Amino acid sequence: MHEAGLMARVLEIAARHAEEAGAGRIRLIALRVGALSGVEKESLRFAFEALKPGTPAREAELLIEEVPLRGSCEACNIEFAADGLYGIALCPSCGEPVAAVAAGEELEISYLEVI
Ligand SMILES: [Zn+2]
Repeated sequence: MHEAGLMARVLEIAARHAEEAGAGRIRLIALRVGALSGVEKESLRFAFEALKPGTPAREAELLIEEVPLRGSCEACNIEFAADGLYGIALCPSCGEPVAAVAAGEELEISYLEVI
């Protein structure tokens, strides 16, 4: 499962950060997940619960923030929030279909709280 691999990586990065900060434990991991990243929140949560025992994040809480899809139209030089599926959105100004991506594809750790 894709999400398990991602979460293993997140926990690894989190553990390294905690160690660098001289912290023993991680209290909170906040993730930003893009609408187009193809990652399922429930699967991420499941992977987190399954993988966290034995790591510095064993008592940590997981926060998942969803980053909405954005589209940008070069002709109109605007960026807008898009709810289009399949990566296509209609420009609200000229009505042309544009590729909707911008802020929708990432998965990243936005912050960590360590003790
Ligand atoms: Zn446009």
